[in-house]
Amino acid sequence: MSHALALPPQQALIGGQWIDTATTIQVEAPASGEPLARIARSQAAEVNAAVQAAQNAFVGQLGEWSSWSARLRSEWLLSFAGVIEAHHEQLAQLECADTGKPMTQAKGDIAACARYFRFYGGAADKLHGETIPFENDFAVMTLREPYGVCAQIIPWNYPAQIFGRCVAAALAAGNTIVLKPAEDACLSVLRLAELATNHGLPAGALNVVPGLGSEAGAVLASHADIHHLSFTGSPETGTQVAQAAAQHHVPVTLELGGKSPQLVFADADLEAALPAVVRGIIQNAGQTCSAGSRLLVQRDIADSVVATLSELFAALRCDVGEADADCGPLINARQKSKLEERLAAAEADGIRVAAKGQLAAGAPADGHFVLPQLLTNIPDGHEVLREELFGPVLVVQIFEDEAQALALANATDFGLCAGVWTRDGGRQLRLAKGIRSGQVFINNYGAAGGVELPFGGIGRSGHGREKGFEGLRSYTRIKTIAIKH
Ligand code: NAD
Repeated sequence: MSHALALPPQQALIGGQWIDTATTIQVEAPASGEPLARIARSQAAEVNAAVQAAQNAFVGQLGEWSSWSARLRSEWLLSFAGVIEAHHEQLAQLECADTGKPMTQAKGDIAACARYFRFYGGAADKLHGETIPFENDFAVMTLREPYGVCAQIIPWNYPAQIFGRCVAAALAAGNTIVLKPAEDACLSVLRLAELATNHGLPAGALNVVPGLGSEAGAVLASHADIHHLSFTGSPETGTQVAQAAAQHHVPVTLELGGKSPQLVFADADLEAALPAVVRGIIQNAGQTCSAGSRLLVQRDIADSVVATLSELFAALRCDVGEADADCGPLINARQKSKLEERLAAAEADGIRVAAKGQLAAGAPADGHFVLPQLLTNIPDGHEVLREELFGPVLVVQIFEDEAQALALANATDFGLCAGVWTRDGGRQLRLAKGIRSGQVFINNYGAAGGVELPFGGIGRSGHGREKGFEGLRSYTRIKTIAIKH
C-alpha cells in the first residue's frame, strides 16, 4: 500500500526543521497489517528541544509567532484552511491508509479539519476581555491572554480532525504548540504540519514530536516549561498525564472516553432514529469517544426495534479504501484482540448476538476487522454496559418509562454524549436537563459533528471544553488590570 501513497516527512518537526531521531517506530496499515511508514521515536532530547523552540517563538510580544497581531493570525489561519482544502484528496488518502477508516469518512475528517481553521481563523480577532464597573476612581479591564507553550497529546482515531480542533484554536489564541501525535496513526498530522510550515507559519509556532506515549508523551506531560496541556485519549492515560501536569500546576483539558446512551421512546420517529443509532456506533468502527454505544429502548417497541436494527446490522459491509464501506477495520491487532476477548466473555455470560454485519467480498483477509454487532439479553450491571468497548458494538437495554430511562442513561461514570428520540417536547427538555453529560442531542445524534459547538465531558469523560468559541477561550487565561486614577 505504501508505494501508492505520497508519504509526508516522518521525522520530528522542531523549530521549523525536520529532525531525525536515533530510532524509529514501524507503523502498520490497519487494513492489511502491512508496513506503511517508519515514524520518528522522539525521546526527552527532542521533546526538550521542541519545548524550547515553542518558547522561543513565544516571548511576550517579541517571539516569531507572538509578535503577530490577532488580525495577522486570523488571516493566516483562514488562508491555511484553503491550503488544506487544496490538498483534500491527498490528506484523505493518508488518513484512510493510516487509520483504516472508509474513504468517505476520511474525506469528512479532512473537511472538518479545514473547517476548524476557517472557524478559528474567523474567531481569532473577535476574542476580547471586558471592562468592569468598580470604584469611581478605578478603571478595570480584563485581558484574554494566550497561555504560551501548549502541549497537545492526541490519539489515533481522528488524527486530522483533532489536529484541526486543537492546533487551530491554540494558534488563533496566540499560543505556540508542541504536539505529540499517536504512534498508531499520525501521517495526516505530519503532512498538515509540513503544509503549515511551507505556508509560512513561523518556525517554532508548531512543533511535532512523534513517538511513544510512555516516552515522548510522558516527558511532554511532565515538562516544567509547558503552560497548558490538552489530552485526548483513554481515561487511564488521562489520569496519568493530569497527575504529571499537576507537578508544575499546568492546567489541563481532558477529552476522554464515553459510554453514551441513545434513548428511543415509543413516540419517536423510528425511520429517522434507527439509521442514526446505527451510524452513531459504526462511525470509525466504533472507535469514537462520542460513539452512541448503549441503546435504551422503551418496552412497547423493543421487539420491533431490535428486529429492524438486526436487519440494518446484517446489511452492514466491512471493507477499506475507496469502496463504499460502512465500517473499516480496528486500528491494530491489540485493539482487535482486546475487543474479541470481551465479546467472547459476554457470550459466555449468556449475552446474545442478535445480529452481525459482514465482511465485503474481496475485503483484505488480514485486516483488523471486528464485525459490527448488536448485543441483547444483557444482565444488569454487566461490564459491556459500563465499559467503553471502542468497537462497532451496540448494547441494548429496555426501559418502561421516562424515569427509568433517565436512571439508566445516568448509570455510568462517563458523561460525554446522549441522544434522545421522542416527539414529546416536555420530555425532550426534562431529559436534556436531567442527563448528566456534556452534550445532549434531541432527535439527532452528533449534530453533524459541528465544529462550532462546544464539546467535552463530565466525570470519567474528562473536563474542559474544546470546539466552538468555548474551545478558543479555553486556550486563554484572564488577566485583570485595575488602574487607579
Ligand atoms: P492512549 O490514551 O494510551 O493514547 C492516547 C495518546 O496518549 C497517544 O498519543 C499516546 O501515545 C499517548 N500516551 C500514552 N501513554 C502516555 C503517557 N503515559 N503519557 C503521555 N502520553 C501518553 O490510548 P491507546 O492506548 O491508544 O488506546 C487505548 C484505549 O484508549 C482505547 O481502547 C480507547 O478506549 C481509548 N481511546 C480513546 C480515545 C478518545 O478519543 N477518547 C482515543 C483513543 C483511544
